[in-house]
Amino acid sequence: MTATSIAPLPTTARPTKVVVIGGGVTGTITAWELARMGHQVTLLEARQVGSGSSSRSAACIRQQFSTPSTVRGMRYSVQFYDQWHALMGGAESPIRHNGYLFLKDYTADPEAVQATVAMQQEAGLTDVTWLTKEELDEQFPYIESTGLQGATWCPTDGFLFPHIVYNDSAEAARRNGVQVVQGAEVVEANHSNGRVASVITRDGNVFDGDIFVNAANAWAPRLSGICGGFALDIQTRRRYLYFMEGLRDESMGLAPDDVRNLPMTITPRGAYCRPESTHQLMMGWLHFTKPVEADFDDQDRIEPGFGHNAFSGYGMGLHKELSAFVPAVADMGNIHAVTAGYYADTADHNPLIGFDPIVANLLHVAGFSGHGLMHAPFSARIVACLIEAGHNIASINLPDLGSVDLKPYEVDREPARGEAMVI
Ligand SMILES: Cc1cc2nc3c(=O)[nH]c(=O)nc-3n(C[C@H](O)[C@H](O)[C@H](O)COP(=O)(O)OP(=O)(O)OC[C@H]3O[C@@H](n4cnc5c(N)ncnc54)[C@H](O)[C@@H]3O)c2cc1C
Repeated sequence: MTATSIAPLPTTARPTKVVVIGGGVTGTITAWELARMGHQVTLLEARQVGSGSSSRSAACIRQQFSTPSTVRGMRYSVQFYDQWHALMGGAESPIRHNGYLFLKDYTADPEAVQATVAMQQEAGLTDVTWLTKEELDEQFPYIESTGLQGATWCPTDGFLFPHIVYNDSAEAARRNGVQVVQGAEVVEANHSNGRVASVITRDGNVFDGDIFVNAANAWAPRLSGICGGFALDIQTRRRYLYFMEGLRDESMGLAPDDVRNLPMTITPRGAYCRPESTHQLMMGWLHFTKPVEADFDDQDRIEPGFGHNAFSGYGMGLHKELSAFVPAVADMGNIHAVTAGYYADTADHNPLIGFDPIVANLLHVAGFSGHGLMHAPFSARIVACLIEAGHNIASINLPDLGSVDLKPYEVDREPARGEAMVI
């Protein structure tokens, strides 16, 4: 991998006063990206940096997507996170390359799976391969492969450490001159000639700007409303992560300390697990609950049936599903913890990135549908290119990675076939 794909965009000839609203991974990396181009940036965060979904995430990163633009974008993000120290100056790497293993049973159409792998390779992801059942048994002997026809495997996928991402990027943004204001919830906007002239925070402070970036994730539709913008098609759903202790190298047939190198493993029905530490497993499962109203103080609430003690609850169902494919999970005992956070879902599971169709100087970067951490460097790059253009554009060029079509991310698109690989 070359460093050139992360080469900074040229210094802008038109420095702009940009107000970025939302201090999660998206807002902090975007603020940094804009500042390094020479824009004058203020970042407003309602609570503290990282206090939204960014600190409640499974934090996995993959390049195995079904939308070619996203495959290229995630290759960019992986390279960006790999070069973290050079870019952000952070002491610790925010990424671990444990790989992603998507298990496929006989309900999967082999031709469709092969076509997706071929598309991903065509988009430059040469690391991804299809493993037959025999290859899967050989490479991952702790997987129970009865009923599986194989798996797709990409060793350069992995997971991130979100606290490193938002803390380092906020710090790097500050060093580049960004004014980072915490405890600054935007509650009102002033308009002039159909544009946002300034936003007002709950404590009465006024921030004016040329462009306002909505990086408020689950709160993005509300913020768009405050700014007089488009009704964003984003629904907030609560998602859970479960934790178990006692994963042992011996019971997996692994060498000492190898548990921590296990890949992110996804069952055919979308349940997933990855190591969280040497003996701890993090687990989650695709599910569609009814949408909720995003509330700063309600992010951690565990709804009835989702707690870790509920014997017949969702967590136990997840435990059972994973045990069928990773038998060592069955020996681990009980789930000891559960955490919750918001997914900001779009109908087709692609984000909304672009200028608002109604308010010309409002730019949305939200609706990541469970992919926002991995998306953040790519999102920031798109926002920077859009601000440079001054209007929506059809594509951007990622040096070495090729052209990326922005159509899948249009703010007012009709929900399309969309992203098929959703967990
Ligand atoms: C259980 C779970 C598992 C996940 N797993 C993954 C995964 O494996 N990989 C992955 O990439 N993603 C995953 N995600 C999704 C990922 O965490 C999010 O997409 C990502 O954190 C979004 O980052 P963000 O900066 O856009 O939003 P947030 O981190 O939510 O930041 C938005 C910020 O905006 C602030 N804000 C809101 N309204 C206002 C306002 N009016 N004024 C000022 N500030 C405001 C909020 O306080 C918040 O800090 C997961 C999420 C959950 C909950």
